[in-house]
Amino acid sequence: MYDYDLLVVGSANADLVIGVERRPGAGETVLGTDLAVHPGGKGANQAVAAARLGARTALLARVGDDDYGRLLLDSQQAAGVDTVGVLVGGAPTGVALITVDPSGDNSIVVSPGANGRLAPGDVRAAASLFHASRVVSTQLEIPLETVVEVVRSLAPDSRFVLNPSPPRPLPPEVLAACDPLIVNEHEAKVILGDSCVSERPEDWARILLAKGPRSVVVTLGAEGALVASSSEGVSRVPSVKVDAVDTTGAGDAFTAALAWRLGTGESLTGAAAYAARVGAAAVTKAGAQASYPTAAQAEAL
Ligand code: ADP
Repeated sequence: MYDYDLLVVGSANADLVIGVERRPGAGETVLGTDLAVHPGGKGANQAVAAARLGARTALLARVGDDDYGRLLLDSQQAAGVDTVGVLVGGAPTGVALITVDPSGDNSIVVSPGANGRLAPGDVRAAASLFHASRVVSTQLEIPLETVVEVVRSLAPDSRFVLNPSPPRPLPPEVLAACDPLIVNEHEAKVILGDSCVSERPEDWARILLAKGPRSVVVTLGAEGALVASSSEGVSRVPSVKVDAVDTTGAGDAFTAALAWRLGTGESLTGAAAYAARVGAAAVTKAGAQASYPTAAQAEAL
């Protein structure tokens, strides 16, 4: 009865990447490699990851009326994402300027651009997409008031998944809707703030759960993930052993896979185990969207 397994509401950025011998200091100019331009942004990444796995996916986002906006639309459509909800104009496409040194350390400047103009009114105008979507997933690279409007626009039976990245304190109304709230170690620490002094991820999961979400997932990189809900308690989901090449975008692939599988009726633990395979597959290749597996590739791990 739903047209979409997953509606992703979120950011779409052009990632502009230059390799450098040394990242420049104040007032300094350094020469780098040829420019590489990749489609990115957490919303765009999640939508591509889900569609590549076979989920019927739509994206609600805003890009500029410019070449980077067209690159983002093209890459979404090539992955099979329905872009009927991608709005064009209002500001230049969001851009991340990334310099990477030989050790893999990077410096990043983000211009949110059109992502910052994705407004609550855009969410209200997309009511038909919300009614057609079994699961809705978002992140925090769009304005918080837009995320609040997403929560208010959910269809009665649909499920809401939030990865609060970049992390900031969340209003109770948003926390209460999350099923689950998905955080990595850094995000958990920012959202918990002074309310947690423990270094044990199990404690983070418990204390986060007490803040109102219906369920919580803490991702732990190569250590896998923890899932927590009041009905299932806290349990650990092991990671899949792989040779990691590039962890960029692993969390977005994990979140998309988890959101999709939850919509098929799978348990939180089962969906997280599947998402761990997808996250592991994503770290075996360079890049974010370029590294996302098909369902067959994730199964084959
Ligand atoms: P983020 O990218 O948001 O920091 P994580 O690094 O925790 O998120 O990665 C998300 C998920 O991807 C992890 O829970 C795990 O399942 C998988 N993953 C990430 N890094 C690895 C790795 N080196 N080996 C195996 N799986 C990984």
